[in-house]
Amino acid sequence: MGRSAAAVRRLGSLAFALAMAIGTALAATQPALAQAPSAAPVAKRVMHPAPPRRTNEGLGPYRKLVIRGVTLIDGTGAPPRGPVDIVIEGDKITDVIQAGWPGLPLKSNRAPLDADKEIDATGMYALPGFVDLHVHGGDPVKSPDLEYAYKLWLAHGVTTVRGVSLAPHDIAVSEKARSARGEIVAPRIYNYQTLGSGWSGGRIDGPAKARAWVQWAAKNGVDGIKFFALMDETPEVMTAAIDEAKKLGLGTVAHISPPGVAGMNARQMGDAGLGTVTHFYGHFESMLKAGRLQKFPNDYNFYDEAKRFGEAAEIWDEVEPGSPEWVAYLEAQKAHHVDFDPTMTIYAASRDLMRAKNADWHSIYTLPSLRDYFVSTRDNHGSYFYDWTTGNEVAWRNFYARFMRLVNDYKNMGGRVSTGSDSGFIWKLYGFGYIEELELLQEAGFTPLEVIQAATSNGARTLADPKGEVPSFGIVKPGMSADLVIVPENPLANFKTLYGTGHERLSADNKVERVGGVKWTVTRGVAYDAHALLADVKAMVDKQKAERAATGK
Ligand SMILES: [Zn+2]
Repeated sequence: MGRSAAAVRRLGSLAFALAMAIGTALAATQPALAQAPSAAPVAKRVMHPAPPRRTNEGLGPYRKLVIRGVTLIDGTGAPPRGPVDIVIEGDKITDVIQAGWPGLPLKSNRAPLDADKEIDATGMYALPGFVDLHVHGGDPVKSPDLEYAYKLWLAHGVTTVRGVSLAPHDIAVSEKARSARGEIVAPRIYNYQTLGSGWSGGRIDGPAKARAWVQWAAKNGVDGIKFFALMDETPEVMTAAIDEAKKLGLGTVAHISPPGVAGMNARQMGDAGLGTVTHFYGHFESMLKAGRLQKFPNDYNFYDEAKRFGEAAEIWDEVEPGSPEWVAYLEAQKAHHVDFDPTMTIYAASRDLMRAKNADWHSIYTLPSLRDYFVSTRDNHGSYFYDWTTGNEVAWRNFYARFMRLVNDYKNMGGRVSTGSDSGFIWKLYGFGYIEELELLQEAGFTPLEVIQAATSNGARTLADPKGEVPSFGIVKPGMSADLVIVPENPLANFKTLYGTGHERLSADNKVERVGGVKWTVTRGVAYDAHALLADVKAMVDKQKAERAATGK
């Protein structure tokens, strides 16, 4: 991104553009700048709410919809069973009925016989809609249309997102409500925001102000708090905010940035009552072998992202997997019911940059403006590959091996692990990045069923717990919201079949075929053809390419 474009972005949406994967000093503390007066051309640089759902988009909701003949993976961790018929009335699942026996023809004339609509999914698999606990909707320059991310998420089976944040507060509140009313083609939205976002009460200068903002947020459509542990977010401020959030039913999630970890590592945040640790930050710092802080080189500079991300992985050999400190850390987090949301996908380019840059989907589904954002620069956050070496990638592979062990050990001892993607940075595209997270959890040691459990019921519980609620989605059973992913291939056999670009397989007669991709995504009783959603996304990308060709940019 050029200097002028960067300046435009800063003027237009500073706080939002920075509240992202990497965390920056300003995101948590200067939300008021998002509303700063700006010159006319700059004023256009805003996020665009999704257009109203067209009449030809999606089927339903119906008085009664039946999905026929599927094999069900229900999201609890239970093994598949099928064939079943799934009965949906309005936006709720009302029954799951055995429809026959494997290897025998399906029974004919199966009840219910009074459906308004039937979807024949014979031979397909159904799962609960996926829950992505770490998303952003784009920014005014790289990807201004929320429709773009929404359709990529839905096309990959994501029916619920936790925006941390999705968009500036006012837009996020509005989009959440429009989605709930079925007015737009979008997943269910949870609106998490940083301290001080959206209000006119000024910066968070201490614990009292933090509590005041949380009280304001609870009344103004905020579901939870995203911490970056930077600037005004001192340990005292975060502790007060977590305490107030627990009283008022708000969730909490922390990206514990390197400058903040000295004051409060992940264990200390868990002690204070934090709900979710997102990314990897703060875990290993809670169990270092020698000393309390990572041994950074003397020329480390947090604002130099090549340094920041180059050094992040170097902590890998300062911890000992399975050591007493390792186990004690995990036991402490489990006792506090802390959710680990590792978002391994968003930093995966660090261990194999060429793969991330050249992923199959970029040429079709990545907006040129988003691709511009990904290209290395010193001032776009997450574009830190100035001179990325073999040594850097080796360090990240070593780091991932231990981070994966940590996440898997936590799951094995009964800790909750969920799925988040943080796409829109570091060569990761919405939806596609989420599926990669499923693959990475399997690499970490999760069985495919454990991966699905993390992606569905675990995420739902993490969203419901702070409100003192029982989840209303995330499991396929009567009474739950009708949020489903319907896929032609068995996803347990190969998560790659969930990618929108499908999976290449050689046929029996020696021809390369593309198989898979989600077939239907059902959200609150509305069934979307995933291929049609992807076609819409491709049209958005093609339109921008044509505009660029016309203007010679
Ligand atoms: Zn993020």
